[in-house]
Amino acid sequence: MTSHVKPLTLTGTVAVVTGASSGIGEATARQLAELGATVVLAARRIDRLTQLAKELGKQALAVEVDVADANAVKSLFDQVMSAYGRVDTLVNNAGVMLIGPAHMAPLDEWKQMVDVNVMGVLNCTKIALPYLVEAAKSAPRNVADIVNVSSVAGRKAQPGSAVYSATKFAVGAFSDGIRQELASQHVRVTLVEPGFTDTELASHINPVILEKMQAAMAQMPRMTAHEVADSITFAVTRPTGVSISEILIRPTEQER
Ligand code: NDP
Repeated sequence: MTSHVKPLTLTGTVAVVTGASSGIGEATARQLAELGATVVLAARRIDRLTQLAKELGKQALAVEVDVADANAVKSLFDQVMSAYGRVDTLVNNAGVMLIGPAHMAPLDEWKQMVDVNVMGVLNCTKIALPYLVEAAKSAPRNVADIVNVSSVAGRKAQPGSAVYSATKFAVGAFSDGIRQELASQHVRVTLVEPGFTDTELASHINPVILEKMQAAMAQMPRMTAHEVADSITFAVTRPTGVSISEILIRPTEQER
């Protein structure tokens, strides 16, 4: 008898990863495919997704989708079901961080963060839910997974990122509520809250604000996208009877 816990295999399972065109989503898709899952790559930049799907081979499908658009999300899952007939894992990773002082922020940037970071998670979860519940009843794992990517900002608000934080706090509340609802149906829900990670996320910030932040940002310790993705793949490969509810992951030198 071994004292080690054997990770679940992902062979024969289907994972949908939103925001798979860069950063944490792309890294997660690569790792899930390496672990045997068929991976559906979802985001708006279809050129990036198509390139990644080519690299991953038969195990991947690229689908252009704006997660804020419920009809587009419905069409995404229609395509997944017609291609593969099941959804075992949903990684709600797509997100935008348009930060800056409230008095300078255009209202449409706030709306975009709410639409993508909150409505995107709700749209995908709502539409995937019946498929996840069904997958959890069957082999190979007898369990299904929703992983919601929040942030350290989903635990602590700061000046300059009040609305981004508000969206991530919402993801945290939704995750814990839905986790309790779905526990008896063997759909696990994991909230992943990364600290600073080296991705394209900050590149969408208003250039005037970005310039002011540049000196501080250059000093920040950062994790790689793969280091964060590793926490996502850890959660979805736990044994059927184990659910990781929350992972707060920071670079070692990040204090807050
Ligand atoms: P990236 O900017 O590299 O990735 C963001 C992804 O979200 C892209 O693939 C983008 O694809 C996708 N996306 C944005 N808007 C939409 C939309 N409307 N519909 C579909 N996809 C969309 O940044 P990260 O990898 O860092 O971000 C991933 C997640 O991690 C986000 O939720 C972010 O809030 C969170 N996070 C990141 C941290 C960091 O320091 N980097 C720290 C804490 C949390 P496309 O543009 O092709 O649509």
